[in-house]
Amino acid sequence: MRLVLLGPPGAGKGTQAVVLSEKLKIPHISTGDILREAVRASSDIGKKAKSYMDKGELVPDNIVTQIVVERLAKDDALKGFILDGYPRTKSQAESLSSALGLRGIKIDRALYLKTSVSTIIARLSGRRICSKCNAIYHTKNSPPKKAGVCDKCASGLYQRDDDKEGPIEKRLEVYNKTEGEVVNFYKDEGILKEFSGDMDVQELYRSLIIAFKEEALL
Ligand code: AMP
Repeated sequence: MRLVLLGPPGAGKGTQAVVLSEKLKIPHISTGDILREAVRASSDIGKKAKSYMDKGELVPDNIVTQIVVERLAKDDALKGFILDGYPRTKSQAESLSSALGLRGIKIDRALYLKTSVSTIIARLSGRRICSKCNAIYHTKNSPPKKAGVCDKCASGLYQRDDDKEGPIEKRLEVYNKTEGEVVNFYKDEGILKEFSGDMDVQELYRSLIIAFKEEALL
């Protein structure tokens, strides 16, 4: 199955992608994770992306699309994938569609997690990430067993700079500008499914699985 997850920062895309990836046995591909890794490694792409990411702005389409197209060509993504954080603009959605079209494949569903501003702020401000395995925690909703330490790999947790108050506002402003065009792109393709990102993790996961079963995708 080839899926894209749409929704604002804090909608729960990353969290759902991890569990869906295990259930469906297809890779979770997060452009944010790939870019943060590139910044940490100080690669050419990382150097180009850093200033945009620090400001909560979008990294230029050509850079992100190149990353995605290369990643999707790897063996583990041949049977399917879950894209998280891409596409974020109509132009990215079109590029994705053309790149997949060249391989005779297409996105099966775009899952849109529509989420209220109060949920977004509460989730992002409490979000903590593992510096090694990218596991996601929340100081209140899903704290690690030992404060500041990842349950899975025992590495330290950190708060993303862009999950702090100023950058959150900027990211939401940026997101709101392009949300409609991406959602409409997939609506027009007839593959958009909308869910409430305000649901808790388990509830949302159950709704996604029920929807897949109803459509005989599982
Ligand atoms: P995320 O982890 O998805 O919130 O992404 C973190 C940051 O990476 C964003 O604020 C952007 O600066 C950049 N980024 C991630 N995905 C994209 C994308 N599809 N297009 C442009 N910039 C992106």
